[in-house]
Amino acid sequence: MANVRLEDIKRKFNNVTAIEDITFEIPDGEFWVLVGPSGCGKSTILRTIAGLETATSGKLFIGDRLVNNIPARQRDVAMVFQNYALYPHMSVSQNIGFGLQMRQVDRKIIQERVMNVARSLSLDHLLDRKPKQLSGGQQQRVALGRAIAREPQVFLLDEPLSNLDAQLRDDTRAELKQLHQELGITTIYVTHDQVEAMTLADKIVVLNRGRIQQIGDPQSIYASPANQMVASFLGSPPMNILPAIYESNGFDVSGQLLTIPAVVKEKLQLRQGHSYDLGIRPEHIFINEPPTRQEVNESQLIVEVKVVEPLGRETLIRAGLPGSAVVLNIQVGGDVRPRPGDRLSLQLDLNQLFVFN
Ligand code: ADP
Repeated sequence: MANVRLEDIKRKFNNVTAIEDITFEIPDGEFWVLVGPSGCGKSTILRTIAGLETATSGKLFIGDRLVNNIPARQRDVAMVFQNYALYPHMSVSQNIGFGLQMRQVDRKIIQERVMNVARSLSLDHLLDRKPKQLSGGQQQRVALGRAIAREPQVFLLDEPLSNLDAQLRDDTRAELKQLHQELGITTIYVTHDQVEAMTLADKIVVLNRGRIQQIGDPQSIYASPANQMVASFLGSPPMNILPAIYESNGFDVSGQLLTIPAVVKEKLQLRQGHSYDLGIRPEHIFINEPPTRQEVNESQLIVEVKVVEPLGRETLIRAGLPGSAVVLNIQVGGDVRPRPGDRLSLQLDLNQLFVFN
């Protein structure tokens, strides 16, 4: 096992900069997730650590070793891809043991280790099967098994669950987390799926356009996003963003006045006549009872219901601000079921309001 340190890593492809200013250190044994939209540079970072790409500049350490010029094979990392890449003509057992066989490890030791790995991944009853006789989830477990059997210093996973269907993805995600708890191998996991990032990570690295936006544990990133990109990327449904202009009494949100308490105002150092984006999470919006127009005061917003999605325990409501294209996601209890076309008066928890420039 080892820590992994990136110092000011940059990778250019011809004149296109894929990643730059990439600096972080993953302590030994931690599970870190690189997350961000497609094309933000996640895979390039992972492939650089694996030795499948070379950094244009910067330093990369695995343990105490500077590995910039060390070939992939000698880096002692194992990588698992989304498309498993198993050997079709080999059995499960041969696939898992392959890396060890290549290193000419003693046959008895290989057998023992394959058995242990297979057991920890519930594959021990499938050892003689060929990949095509396995389900997608089982194939992915074999791919994981092959990586684990090599007992690498670092485990690199590139969207390993994205080819699995929803239920299997949830199950395998939980297994992966448990496996990491058991083995304690330093793991770097790439995904565009914020749910995977939130549930798996000790620390999340949020990337956008080749640059780090924020590094932190899932809860603190969710509670204190560094910028609007991070705020709207992490969270499902995502944070609502409302364009607004600050006037002396509060925010003008598409013609509706949203007054804010003096303490919040002071904290935010707002400028008169300035445009801002207000951020509010769906769970921080409440529906006033009864939602009649007369009762509305100025810390409320009137919206018109567009779509109602009952999800069982909760209901997700999409509602628009009249006369504007802005749509809000509101998450309420499962027993609340307004109808499309209804007008609602909303109360925002202003202590949970984010203001972005
Ligand atoms: P992600 O994994 O977040 O989807 P990538 O790391 O694959 O993003 O890509 C980051 C950027 O680098 C993209 O703009 C992509 O087009 C570019 N890129 C990646 N690999 C290559 C390559 N081999 N040649 C040219 N451009 C590349």
